[in-house]
Amino acid sequence: MGLDTSGLLPLSDALQGMLAQLDGCCDSEQLPLPEALGRVLAMDIASPLSVPPFDNSAMDGYAVRLADLVGGAPLIMAGKAFAGQPYQGEWPAGHCVRIMTGAPVPAGTDAVVMQEETQADGDRITFLTTPVPGQNIRRRGEDIREGASVLAAGTRLTAREMPLLASLGIASVPVRRPLKVAIFSTGDELKPIGTPLAHGDIYDSNRYGVRAMLDRMGCDCLDLGIIPDDPAQLRAAFLKADREADALITTGGVSVGEADFTKQLLEELGEIGFWKLAIKPGKPFAFGRLPHAWFFGLPGNPVSAMVTFDQLVQPALAKLAGQRFERPLQLQAIAAEPLKKAPGRLDFQRGILTQGPNGLEVRSTGSQDSAVFSSLSRANCYIVLEREQGRVAAGETVTVEPFGGLLL
Ligand code: AMP
Ligand code: MG
Repeated sequence: MGLDTSGLLPLSDALQGMLAQLDGCCDSEQLPLPEALGRVLAMDIASPLSVPPFDNSAMDGYAVRLADLVGGAPLIMAGKAFAGQPYQGEWPAGHCVRIMTGAPVPAGTDAVVMQEETQADGDRITFLTTPVPGQNIRRRGEDIREGASVLAAGTRLTAREMPLLASLGIASVPVRRPLKVAIFSTGDELKPIGTPLAHGDIYDSNRYGVRAMLDRMGCDCLDLGIIPDDPAQLRAAFLKADREADALITTGGVSVGEADFTKQLLEELGEIGFWKLAIKPGKPFAFGRLPHAWFFGLPGNPVSAMVTFDQLVQPALAKLAGQRFERPLQLQAIAAEPLKKAPGRLDFQRGILTQGPNGLEVRSTGSQDSAVFSSLSRANCYIVLEREQGRVAAGETVTVEPFGGLLL
């Protein structure tokens, strides 16, 4: 991979390197539609019927045959068609049919004239406009043709897909089982929330961020808690995760501090690469294979852990889960204030994107230290600054990436 003289690995190389090794690992099952919300489709879905299933009216008005309108005389209303109650009577020459939105148009209808373009005198209807053939008729199959592909395998089912599938009468769908992901935090200094802190302790916060993001991805999370910097306990936790999950995500212990046993253990248990990524925040990162499960080792610094998960682990887990992944849109915005930046790493600074009088504007959330939580919690976007870019002056255009699903 593309290590340069800095010894730092570009983000895109790290991503490509990981994705090339990963494959979907989740079996499929058939679930009733309401239970499939949040799951990933295991197969393409073809429509079993045409939508709409019959020619119907797009307006409240009158169904007409154009030949009856020649001469401009009023037409006599022959009867009424409602949604769910088609008109089934005779339709003699010189007549029209009162029709409501969604009602099937009677056979022979050339157009529907909206009621605002007519005048009714009892059942004598005068037409104030000349209809165009086909006007206000929604044709059978106009939205979806029978047999057409409507959703691709790999689509995660959201509120947007549920009514579409229901409109096709699909009562159950083939979906992948959720990816099972074990997580733990490493560090002697970490204490669980809800317990008192001794001097030198901090609360384990990363696990709650990682759990929230896994939840957003629809993964099943096996939370193994906090594991101290102790080789025996770490080894037991790695082996448990490897037995029970498809992937393991840890935070902390992948830098080169003295208490970082993870490297040693992982090299013994599996094939793990320890990378120094050319991104900020988030330099140290580990990726590889335990005997059964994939391993992702995130940096301990809280903001680094969140950003590396979002940028690197998310696409990797999506691939394992069989889910199609699309990166969030990147936009251009005006820097409303100067931004500090040293060349050397690709920065994901945390910014606040707003709509200014001349378009999108972005400001920094302040300190970009990877231990400063508020830099993330106050932000609504990344300010993405290329590796070789130096400081940015106010008024320059920068690339921003509004936070995607995981961080919302
Ligand atoms: P490490 O990567 O283990 O060297 O940790 C780097 C920094 O992140 C240290 O200041 C740790 O105390 C902190 N840290 C590590 N894990 C966590 C965690 N789970 N929650 C909050 N801070 C952490
Ligand atoms: Mg540590």
